[in-house]
Amino acid sequence: MKYCKKCLMPDTRPGLKFDDDGVCYACINFEKQKHTDWEERWKQLEKLCDKYRGCNGDGYDCAIAVSGGKDSHFQTYVMKEKLGMNPVLLSVGNIEWTETGWKNINNLSDSFGCDIIMFHPNVNVARKMFKKAFEKLGSPTWYMDYLMYAYPVRMSMQLGVKLLVYGEDINYTYGGTYDKETPSAMLQPLNDVAKPVWDIWFEDNEISKKDLEAIKQPSIEDCKKFGLDPIYLSYFVPWNSVHNYEVSKKYGFRHLEHEYKREGSLDNYDQIDNIPYLLNPYLKYPKYGHSVATDNASRWIRYGLKTREEMIPLIEETDGKLDQGIVDKFCEFTRMSHREFWVIMDKWYNKELFEQDRDGVWHPKFKVGTGLVK
Ligand SMILES: [Zn+2]
Repeated sequence: MKYCKKCLMPDTRPGLKFDDDGVCYACINFEKQKHTDWEERWKQLEKLCDKYRGCNGDGYDCAIAVSGGKDSHFQTYVMKEKLGMNPVLLSVGNIEWTETGWKNINNLSDSFGCDIIMFHPNVNVARKMFKKAFEKLGSPTWYMDYLMYAYPVRMSMQLGVKLLVYGEDINYTYGGTYDKETPSAMLQPLNDVAKPVWDIWFEDNEISKKDLEAIKQPSIEDCKKFGLDPIYLSYFVPWNSVHNYEVSKKYGFRHLEHEYKREGSLDNYDQIDNIPYLLNPYLKYPKYGHSVATDNASRWIRYGLKTREEMIPLIEETDGKLDQGIVDKFCEFTRMSHREFWVIMDKWYNKELFEQDRDGVWHPKFKVGTGLVK
């Protein structure tokens, strides 16, 4: 296990590459942003918007895939306020919202004056799939992740809207099979943020193919035939999550702190619209030895807001903590006992990174920022 010399990302993160000097590509690509000609990129975006503005008469010019979070506010602000587009917002709803998350998605519509078309997931299928995906993949929200890829594409095509706007290109930032910097988000579903497994769900006949039809991604050929133009906004405007948060606040976005103080996280404004889905990012900890605190800390180091030394003790204190509310809500939804939950959790610990004591408690064999010490 090796850590980036600049930030605190470990090489255990799937897809993350390092250069010969031991610097990760998230840092390298962030540095590149500083030399990007953003004025030129902005002109490209303006040109693209000119092409689509008014293409549906008084109907929608473009669609934006949103969750209601800070980045959704930023995307809508850029497309509607700055570029004068008439967007429709496409969203996959949560099964259970935090009060803050629900206020934020309503605010997104109210503050910018946009229609939202929301897909409410099949609760019964989601319940089965959350449990199965936790057991089989260690990725409990696989069903939702797939849906979030599939739904905006499918809905855009049904609405006859060709320009579909996404936020950040995660694969360019952190690496993936298709990690070239590109304005087009066409190949996004092929990157395995949600693992492309399919047949394992039907093995015990609890789930049928019809149950999963809604989460199926239309083929790239069908998208091309339709003329879909999916883009990453992060190609055209500098992407900085702290900056996006500051902008979103000016349009009424609220953080979670007034409702809920969560463990295992350094911020209170990212992924706050539901509690149990946070189990997914937490699972990176037993699998790869880092979780959301490392992600956050590394971003803040890149942005020049914090130093590596400052963040090491904070990550050590935070990353391994799984919020009790996440476990409670996840168990309640999947109708699983806590005992059953922890048996499955044990399965996902990487024995190269953790060791279990005689009572079954896991301890890291690594030191944050250094690597394996045992
Ligand atoms: Zn780095």
